[in-house]
Amino acid sequence: MSGYQIETKCVQSGYTPGNGEPREVPIYQSTTFKYATSADMGKLFDLEASGYFYTRLQNPTNDFVAAKIADMEGGTAGMLTSSGQAANFFAIFNIATQGDHVVACSTIYGGTFNLFNVTMRKMGIDFTFVNPDCSDEELENAFKPNTKAVFGETIANPALTVLDFERFAKAAHAHGVPLIVDNTFATPVNCRPFIFGADIVTHSTTKYMDGHGAAVGGAIVDSGQFDWMAHAEKFPGLTTPDESYHGITYAEKFGKEGAFITKATAQLMRDFGSIQSPQHAFLLNLGLESLHVRMKQHCDNGLALARFLHDHPKVDWVSYPSLPGDKYYPLAEKYLPHGSCGVVSFGVKGGRKEAEEFMGRLKVFAIETHVADARSCCLHPASSTHRQLTEQELIDCGISGNLVRMSCGLEATKDLIEDVEQALG
Ligand SMILES: *Cc1c(COP(=O)(O)O)cnc(C)c1O
Repeated sequence: MSGYQIETKCVQSGYTPGNGEPREVPIYQSTTFKYATSADMGKLFDLEASGYFYTRLQNPTNDFVAAKIADMEGGTAGMLTSSGQAANFFAIFNIATQGDHVVACSTIYGGTFNLFNVTMRKMGIDFTFVNPDCSDEELENAFKPNTKAVFGETIANPALTVLDFERFAKAAHAHGVPLIVDNTFATPVNCRPFIFGADIVTHSTTKYMDGHGAAVGGAIVDSGQFDWMAHAEKFPGLTTPDESYHGITYAEKFGKEGAFITKATAQLMRDFGSIQSPQHAFLLNLGLESLHVRMKQHCDNGLALARFLHDHPKVDWVSYPSLPGDKYYPLAEKYLPHGSCGVVSFGVKGGRKEAEEFMGRLKVFAIETHVADARSCCLHPASSTHRQLTEQELIDCGISGNLVRMSCGLEATKDLIEDVEQALG
């Protein structure tokens, strides 16, 4: 479906039924797959033939849905993972290992920050965090000889900073490493980072893509643009033989278009087993079929709420990239011209206590550790998702004590505004 518009891709990409086959993506509820001879199966193990043998590595339902997401992003290959956390872990660990270094934006999602800053450090991978608004010089200084990737979020959760893709891609490429972008909040409906130089895209499909708060999941897509062989010494995992896979050199055998995802599947998925269940992939696909329709309403509600908050006397500040006057409005105009997302962050006048009281009075917005689904919800990051961070780390990732993250769902705009109005009092 690669020649079609994003709306058509949301509905139809990834799965093309043959004559008399099911119109909707079938759920292959099977852990295993049958073969006539051992030799047939051996070819799969050697990656000499493509096919399925065990759902811990691959399942047809997952592959249909991954192919849809890859097509929506304009990439060459994709895979699903059990969660967004697994997607970001795989995306980095596929090219960075013990002794390597990664440059990441300081405003990234709290779970990802923790994964990088605590857990992956324990694995011997070093991270330098830079503010997405840092100067070119600061960005340049963050690189080390052992840097293997640059990582950022299109729209940061919950700081709502917008990544200047072209600047970050240019810096990454000048150092011979890929730019990896978590595109969860924008979704490919509102932004396709590959157009602006990103090389790998990740998603927490748990958010808008599923869109109904039904299934945790993640995805990774490769643009097929990054030339691993041109920087072979930096990426031995892709450019030298994999002894755990009969000496295959991924970048040689699968080229720029397929090496990254093939390695992540054959090696990381095999060993870590963070596969998405086919049931979840089916639910995710139902969400994708209406993503383009839903994103419009999420964005309309987000902008209306941001405008309302902006003019309200009990509001300290509002952050919403698509609100004229917002610090990120110029970047949003450039990279997100059709809208950003349904998430609005703002500061309740007063502080932490006033923020918590405001939230307690809401009726339509529910207090949840979730974001970006059909039902409106809200969260106080300083006392929940980000409570393990120090005061300085909170400041670095753009979170103040009075910050409330509002996620506008698909309800009537009027009802959402009135709920916030009564709760502000
Ligand atoms: C939620 C989220 C994640 C983590 O995804 P899970 O599916 O919860 O594991 C990663 N990145 C961003 C931007 C997110 O919002």
